[in-house]
Amino acid sequence: MADRALRVAIVGAGPSGIYAADALTADGAHSVDIFDRLPAPFGLVRYGVAPDHLSIRSVRGTLEKVFDHPTVRFLGNVEVGRDVTVAELHDHYDAIVFTYGAARDRRLGIPGEDLVGSIAATDLVAWYCGHPEAPRELIEDALAHANAAVVVGVGNVAVDVTRVLAKTVPELDHTDMPQHVLDQLARSTITDVYLLGRRGPVHATFTTKELRELGELVEADPVVLEHDLQLDDASRAALAANRVAVRNVDVLAEWSARAPAGRPRRIHARFWSRPVEIVGVDRVEGVVVERTELDENGAVRGTGVIETVPAQLVVRSVGYRGIPLAGLPFDADRNVVPSEDGRVLRDGAVVTGEYVAGWIKRGPTGIIGTNKKDAAASVASLLADAAGLPRPASPEPAAIDALLAERGVAVVDLPGWQAIDVAEQELGALYGRPRTTHHDRDTMLKISRGTPPA
Ligand code: NAP
Repeated sequence: MADRALRVAIVGAGPSGIYAADALTADGAHSVDIFDRLPAPFGLVRYGVAPDHLSIRSVRGTLEKVFDHPTVRFLGNVEVGRDVTVAELHDHYDAIVFTYGAARDRRLGIPGEDLVGSIAATDLVAWYCGHPEAPRELIEDALAHANAAVVVGVGNVAVDVTRVLAKTVPELDHTDMPQHVLDQLARSTITDVYLLGRRGPVHATFTTKELRELGELVEADPVVLEHDLQLDDASRAALAANRVAVRNVDVLAEWSARAPAGRPRRIHARFWSRPVEIVGVDRVEGVVVERTELDENGAVRGTGVIETVPAQLVVRSVGYRGIPLAGLPFDADRNVVPSEDGRVLRDGAVVTGEYVAGWIKRGPTGIIGTNKKDAAASVASLLADAAGLPRPASPEPAAIDALLAERGVAVVDLPGWQAIDVAEQELGALYGRPRTTHHDRDTMLKISRGTPPA
């Protein structure tokens, strides 16, 4: 255990970083600077959890309280690896905890993936959550051309994007989505959303509560083909071992038996369907889908039976992916920073003073709460190493502040973020909502410096 107060840098102000800060500062012993490349904290709680999932987003209230600890500072709008190097952080802190998540999309690796109109779910989610770096033009152009959308993947992110595409604006306008997002969704001409699972319903990774919501939308009928629900022996065995899958299959069976209510939109949940090509001349016109089955080893294989689903929008929702950070090792096969018990591994050897937690440690799985335990475990390793950590050359907070100021980095500190927070509530009040997200980085920076938005 530490016999002196440690100064720890945390890279990434998402749930894992904030939970790590909480674990380090709860008893007031240590101090923490939480860096984030965005001007706002909360990571995927702000920029990933669907805005209409208010109860999940409410975890923000718990995370926010961690910033009340007198020894926790927020240094937003600072990109580690660009504005300050990992080596420089070592000069200023006893230890660094990397919690920068998994910000990018995984690729499908099929022809046509880059056609106009084929977008990553990570980008669509970033757009509707008001992420400052969301590719707004690309998303809005894709949405403006779509009557039918194919969402590839059957995880909870796929269900989130399907729900947002199929909801009416009255079902969304209590959320903190930016106004341009609500306006674009109000103009939507999408009538059909196809959710494609490359394996059977038993193997889908969505959870039942999320799935069930798709059957409760005001203007959308769920459609399930009865033959997609027929189970082979391997699927029956998998079902017997998975209670979530049993509930999911019950929901899908109920939809399949349901007479369509004639609503203007339809959500088609399709299984045993893998995309093999996205087709179109200048932009997406359809997705070529091959029927699949399980082989004797339980792996998915194509049957050669092909159909083309006409669609002008493809949303690839096949998982998030971590990316390397300059100055840190990276496992390019698993898209994580290699680690053992939360300690970073350099060339296979444990390094004390560098730790990881959250998605960049484990990969993009689990619910928000999973990161609390995960961060606490990494912090326990850090504290176990504390006695042996070399003292940094410049541990005073003023030293790192001076370095960033010298480089002209417009750091958003806690009062700066709190000003943005208040401005978002004021903007929301103009629309009769609790909050409307500010999505533009320059505007956020101006507000953080006390300049009201134009
Ligand atoms: P996920 O659950 O891993 O789902 C990825 C989906 O993509 C799976 O259906 C997978 O199918 C499919 N897939 C992968 N490669 C494919 C390919 N080449 N072709 C076709 N399909 C492919 O990931 P996620 O939906 O991105 O969610 C990430 C994490 O966040 C999960 O832990 C999720 O539960 C969590 N989350 C939770 C909530 C919530 O609680 N409400 C909301 C959003 C996200 P296979 O299984 O066949 O590989």
